[in-house]
Order: sequence, then structure tokens, then C-alpha cells
Amino acid sequence: MSKAIEVGKTHLFIDGDWEEAARHVELRSPYSGEPLAMIGYASPEQAARAIEVAARAQKSFRKVPAWQRAQILRKVADIIADRREELAETIAREAAKPIRAARQEIDRTIETYRFSAEAAKSIRGETVPMDAAPRGEHHVAFTLWEPLGVVTAITPFNFPMNLVAHKVGPAIAAGNAMVLKPAEQTPLSALVLGHIFQDAGLPPGVLNIIPGDGKELSEVLTTHPDVAFVTFTGSPAVGKIIRQQAGLRRVTLELGSNSPLVVDEGFTAHELDKMAAEIVQGGFSYNGQVCISIQRVYIHDAVYDELVERIVAGAKALQVGDPLDEATDVSALINEQAGMRLKAWLDEAVDRGAKVLVGGRIEGNRMEPTVVTGVPLDAKLCTEEAFGPILLVERVSSFEKGLELANRSKFGLNAGVFTKRMDHAMLAIETVQAGAVLVNQVPTYRVDHMPYGGVKESGVGREGVLYAMYDMMERKLAAIRTN
Ligand code: NAD
Repeated sequence: MSKAIEVGKTHLFIDGDWEEAARHVELRSPYSGEPLAMIGYASPEQAARAIEVAARAQKSFRKVPAWQRAQILRKVADIIADRREELAETIAREAAKPIRAARQEIDRTIETYRFSAEAAKSIRGETVPMDAAPRGEHHVAFTLWEPLGVVTAITPFNFPMNLVAHKVGPAIAAGNAMVLKPAEQTPLSALVLGHIFQDAGLPPGVLNIIPGDGKELSEVLTTHPDVAFVTFTGSPAVGKIIRQQAGLRRVTLELGSNSPLVVDEGFTAHELDKMAAEIVQGGFSYNGQVCISIQRVYIHDAVYDELVERIVAGAKALQVGDPLDEATDVSALINEQAGMRLKAWLDEAVDRGAKVLVGGRIEGNRMEPTVVTGVPLDAKLCTEEAFGPILLVERVSSFEKGLELANRSKFGLNAGVFTKRMDHAMLAIETVQAGAVLVNQVPTYRVDHMPYGGVKESGVGREGVLYAMYDMMERKLAAIRTN
């Protein structure tokens, strides 16, 4: 168990030290309700101080050479690998994430920091062919990359270590300093990083971690004059607020989706078995509380019955229970509000003619893995992000019709298609409005170095270590006259 849980009362990590917080708020396990810790919340004044500390620390950190920044990040990855089981348990406890999924998150986190270490050493500019214009003759020019300064990061509850790594890793690789405000529901996974970065040799003040209330700290984290970049992962509603507040500052917004999957005709029974297992995994993993969880599945009439039968059987077979139990596939939702919201949306869909094929029971923050069909296109369950264990399976007369329905969304993060036809694969790649189109793969697929992000209301900018790192730097031109 982490030090942060043992001490019972947590502190803020500012300037390489643990500082008394303005107030404390109790954190409880979403699964058992047992108290986990009293979390120290930063006041806006403390957040401002953390930003100013970061600005000071960055002045010397920007001179730390790339090989040293890489060494620190590699060490962070090694320490996390050594503490794998303990950190997975922290995630399982505070996020009610089944332990096997929590371990997977730790493994991805290690990879994200390793990629960040490599990224730090790969920063490179370019020579500019100045003599391509007559006035450019007799000049040699090249570009350099400079860190921006202070990056503030605001993160969600659902991947409390890896999504934090996607911000901290690239920021440190670039030579920035950072203030991190983790989600209220999962601060312990973030606080532990303070110890880890300290042990890895990061200079004090370069990474500051301040749990707190998002609304209360919103303004200071996005408008303080020392803040150069705001990186946010979370709901579209909060993303819009941050974008408005940030003004001319650069932002990355990684927001939600109601990810679609389109299934073509022409698959064998064996292929449908495999596909159904992947769909169940992509729709119900961590209770569907994943930004690229499959929500809408559009299935060609020719394979609809066979595939849906398998999906329903797969959803029924999921083990619901304690996140610390090795056998558990699905545990509790993050809170009761999530259960109430999902119940209201499911009731609306059913009142308007949708049919529940399996599951459907919701009590408090417990929800059975649910598969529905016949959901009206304008019902909230279809148009909004469900962010829960629910799959919509709909019959379509053609692959093209499936693509058309996939695009009927205000979101566009990852989209998936299963097809054996090359022309259909190309049609999907060309026409689906999304940050990524995955062919013969579920939209829930992500490896941590690929460019990742959304179009439409799914966000602005791209993560994936290298892409995030360059976003957190400024390109500077140097031109030298030679005559
Ligand atoms: P959330 O938006 O409720 O909270 C995210 C963070 O924002 C928290 O740290 C919270 O304290 C903070 N916050 C809340 N109000 C704020 C305000 N007014 N100003 C500034 N910060 C504020 O999201 P959540 O419930 O933690 O996470 C779920 C959402 O995150 C889903 O929509 C999901 O799709 C999205 N998400 C997206 C990605 C991605 O990479 N695109 C990844 C994971 C989660």
C-alpha cells in the first residue's frame, strides 16, 4: 500500500516538499465505501504559489541537457516497474478498477515514461532552404525547439497513472516545469508520483502536485500569467470552460466520445467468436469508463444475429465484483451520479422503444453489463457519451449505412471497422470523421506512442508522447547572414 494511504492525511507536493493543505476532504472506495485517506486540497493561493515555484524551477531546468532529462524519465519508469503491484492496488482501490486492468495500466505507464525518455533525446529542428527565395540568398537558417515554461495539467479519474504520464512525461522531456491537478476521485495515484520523481532525481519545483476541487482551482490553473500551456483530459463540458478561460495560451483538450464500430458482412463463425470477445472487452473494460469505449455498434444484416448472440453471451459471462479480486472483470461505477445518469438515459431509450438484450439493472453505482438495441438516433444514450457498461447494437442494411450512422455524432475520437474488403477499408479511412480510424480493430485500441486525439467535440490537439512533447515546445528560427 502506498505511503500516501498509510499516512491517512495527504499533503501537497510543492517545491520538492510536502506542504500542509488548505483543507481536507475524505476519499472513499467507490466499491466498498471504506475511507481511504483524508486528501489535502490546495487553495487557489496555494495553486498560484505552485505555479510560481514551477516558473522559477524551470529557469534552471531548461538548461538540464536532454540526456539527463532522459535519465530521470527512465529511472521513473524503472521505479514504477519495481513498485508495479503496490501501484496497481492503489489504482484498484481508489478507482474501483479491476486489478488485472490496473496492472495493465501500470505496464502502459512504464512504457509511456520510457517513450518520454527516448523522446527527450530525439528533439530536432531542421535546416531551412533560405536560397529558395532571391532575398534568402547568403543566409543559413535552422530551427531550434525551446520549452514553453510552465505547463498545467488537469486529469480525469479513469486512468489515474497513465493519463498523468501522458502529460508529465512529455512536459519533462521537453524541459518544462509542471503543476498537476489530478481528479478528485483518484489523487493517491498522482501523489505517489511526487515520491517517485524525487527518487529519480528530478530537481525540486519542476513537478508540483496539488489535488483539489476542479472548479475552485480552474481559474488560477488556466489564467495565471506564468502558465504557458494547459493540458486537459476530461469531459467536453469542462474542456469548453478551459478553452474559454485559457485565452491565447496553447491548450490540448482530450475529451469524450461515443465511439462507433461498423461491422461488414462476410465473417465466419470462428471470426465472429473472436470479434465478439474483442467487442465485449472494448465495451465493458473498466465498466465502459474509457474515453474510447465502444458505445455504438452498427452491424451488417448478414451477420447481425450471429454476432449479437455472441456479444450477449459474452456480456452475461462477465464477472462483476471486488476490484481487488483476480477474477473480477467489472466492478462499481466511479459514483452514484454516474449510475443515476445512466439509468435516466436507459429509461428514456426504453420508453421510446429500445430493447434490453441483457443486463439493464442499475442500483446506486452498480450497473450490470448491458446490451440494448433499437435506440432512437436522437436518444441521449446514442447522442451523448455513456461512459458506462452499455453497448448499443444496431442492424444496418449495408456497410456504407453503418459508416453514415457512425458519423452521426458530435464526437470523433477513435472509430473502428471490421471488413474484409479493401475498398470498404479505404472508404472508412477516407470518410469517417475521427482522430483515428482502426481497420479490423476495435476503437478502444491504443498504444501509447501513436498520435491520439479527437476531432469535433472530442478535443483539440494530439497526445502520444512525441506529439505532446512538440506541442509543449516553441519552434525558434535562427538565421545567419553569410556575406
Ligand atoms: P471531468 O471533466 O469531470 O474531470 C476532469 C478533471 O477536470 C478533474 O481533475 C476535475 O477536477 C477537473 N475539473 C472539473 N471542473 C473543472 C473546471 N470547471 N475547470 C477546470 N477543471 C475542472 O472528467 P472525469 O469524469 O474525471 O473523466 C471522464 C471524462 O474524461 C470523459 O468524458 C472521458 O471521455 C474523458 N476522457 C478523455 C480521454 C481522452 O484521452 N480523450 C481520456 C480519458 C478520459
